[in-house]
Amino acid sequence: AKAAGRNTFRFYDEAMNRRASQRLALETDLRRAVVRGQLELFYQPQIRSADGRLAGVEALLRWRHPERGLVSPIEFIPLAEEAGIITELGEWALAEAARQIVAWRRQGVAVPRMAVNLSPRQFHAADLADRVERILAAAGAANEWIELEITESAAMAHPEGAVQVLRRLRARGIHVAMDDFGTGHSSLAMLRTLPLNVLKLDRSFVQHLPESETDAAVASAVVTLARRLGLSVVAEGVETEAQKHFLADIGCDLLQGFLFARPLPAGEFEAWLARAYP
Ligand code: C2E
Ligand code: CA
Ligand code: CA
Ligand code: CA
Repeated sequence: AKAAGRNTFRFYDEAMNRRASQRLALETDLRRAVVRGQLELFYQPQIRSADGRLAGVEALLRWRHPERGLVSPIEFIPLAEEAGIITELGEWALAEAARQIVAWRRQGVAVPRMAVNLSPRQFHAADLADRVERILAAAGAANEWIELEITESAAMAHPEGAVQVLRRLRARGIHVAMDDFGTGHSSLAMLRTLPLNVLKLDRSFVQHLPESETDAAVASAVVTLARRLGLSVVAEGVETEAQKHFLADIGCDLLQGFLFARPLPAGEFEAWLARAYP
């Protein structure tokens, strides 16, 4: 029994080592991904519920791995965080998104605003606002064209720090959205003190609308509260006409989800825009 136990342990060790070395290999690949040009942004529209116009676009990172194909950010963002290269990836994404909105506006493609995700690590850097402003200036993008999305849990990890950072961004005219709202633990008091522009209602509160009475109540309450605080609300993950109508009825300003478009590469996004707004 003892020998079998040892063997079991050894087997377990080997399986763990294998997983660890796979991770390490992927991490090494990820470090090279930026310089090898394997990162891309996909773009998903945000639609004004009142008139169906385009209000903005969210940029979402993709990694085109030579052997694995398209790797999801759900997989590689945590890896980048552990490897300590999330800031590099995030700043690449911001620069690329800024270049893209500049290019679109030069071509006469009317994209009012570009939303870019920030990792908690980026968000808590003391010089964030300066770094962002430098990147935008280098791309020739106006601060007002950019919205940074921070998750509720990142903001709540250091609420006092968050207030300072948000104030600095806001003073420069950069918009800030609180992402995945409802999944973290922000108190209503914090919502009042954080200088935000937008709340993004997490998809988990949208997906069972309009049937779920509790989710309907939560969505209505969040929208009412946000609007009273002067924030706009983006509903994430809108997939059905019924969700769209319900959200429009409760006064949710902005809608984002597969119902309108999936995140698309720049060229396909342009084609989608041309079809949707001829
Ligand atoms: P997120 O910021 O909450 O982004 C929304 C996610 O929901 C995206 O997944 C999008 O493709 C997906 N989505 C949009 N509409 C629908 C819908 O109608 N139904 C469903 N089921 N899903 C929908 P994606 O692109 O896989 O990104 C996953 C997460 O990875 C993002 O969640 C964000 O947290 C992170 N991420 C993506 N790009 C970046 C980035 O540049 N920097 C950082 N730090 N994180 C990023
Ligand atoms: Ca987001
Ligand atoms: Ca989100
Ligand atoms: Ca999310």
